[in-house]
Amino acid sequence: MVQRLLSPGEIESLDHTTIPRLVLPQPGVLFSARATRLRQLADGNVPGIPAPDSLHGYLYLMAAVADAQAAIAAAGSPAAASRPAASAPRPPAPPVPPLPPSDAMETALAHNMPPLPVSGPRPAGWGAIYLALLDQLDAAASGQPQLAAVLAGLRALSDTDLEGCADAVLAEFGEGINPLHAPFVAAALQLLWVTHASQLDASRVQPPVTGTLCPVCGSHPLASVIRIGGQAQGYRYLHCAICASEWHMVRVKCSCCEKNARIAYQSLAPAGADTGADEDSGGDPAAAPVNKAQDPSRVARAETCDDCRSYRKIFNQEHDFMVEPLADDLASLALDVLVTEAGYARGSVNPLLWFGSE
Ligand SMILES: [Zn+2]
Ligand SMILES: [Zn+2]
Repeated sequence: MVQRLLSPGEIESLDHTTIPRLVLPQPGVLFSARATRLRQLADGNVPGIPAPDSLHGYLYLMAAVADAQAAIAAAGSPAAASRPAASAPRPPAPPVPPLPPSDAMETALAHNMPPLPVSGPRPAGWGAIYLALLDQLDAAASGQPQLAAVLAGLRALSDTDLEGCADAVLAEFGEGINPLHAPFVAAALQLLWVTHASQLDASRVQPPVTGTLCPVCGSHPLASVIRIGGQAQGYRYLHCAICASEWHMVRVKCSCCEKNARIAYQSLAPAGADTGADEDSGGDPAAAPVNKAQDPSRVARAETCDDCRSYRKIFNQEHDFMVEPLADDLASLALDVLVTEAGYARGSVNPLLWFGSE
């Protein structure tokens, strides 16, 4: 049977109200799943993303950071209140303070602006979250003098230096940033923004004018992910680097300039193996041919755009159920090398990896 392809006009006219436009993060799941995935990648157990040996130590370290984020996120969950204290190996982590009602947020929601803008003042108590994260990481640092030294350096930062680093992380301004400090500062900011984003009412967050910025916090997306399951089946979402919200964008469209005429896909698979076949329909899964499931060469690819010469990676849950945009982006640095050598610029940074100015 020949499957009829939908024209772009027909795709636009599909009933998009049935597609979840915005999926808010679930901190109780997100960080622990990320830690699990980072270890899976570091152990070499992801056929589609073979992380080089030189990256394994960093992936394990970021897994420990995600564990610390997960522990603090769990402290604020309803289950934490009923958990017997004796089961905790260490003093319980302080929960992230709940999202306070604010006039600024109501005004933002009423004007299609991100309700939790990263460009605005940071919520009170973020410094306490930062210190709690460092406390959680102390256990991981035992027997690791280098990590212990970094944690000591992070504790010694002046308020001015800490705020400056946080500003630089949120503005993706790598110049002069300390690449050893920035991932930990970013992790604390993620914990705060993810927790607050999870407390929003998704139905009240409107899509902003541009599809290329997070509708919740205004950050750039870290990567794309093709989701499976329920109504999201086969749809492409952009994943926010800071608050982990995911918003829908049609497939085969540049997530930097929103043009769609000169998109191509690159993977680490041997040249010629990647035909881009399941993107050729130009749109959403109603038009896509049936995928061959579990093809490692389709788990992680770069979506390049010849209009703006940039790229972002796209991870496909249809080919690996466990894909996690941030973890998979970190582990697939070889794909960045391949695509940047071909002349494309990366669309945005991974907040857990900084290269500094050198
Ligand atoms: Zn966001
Ligand atoms: Zn573009």
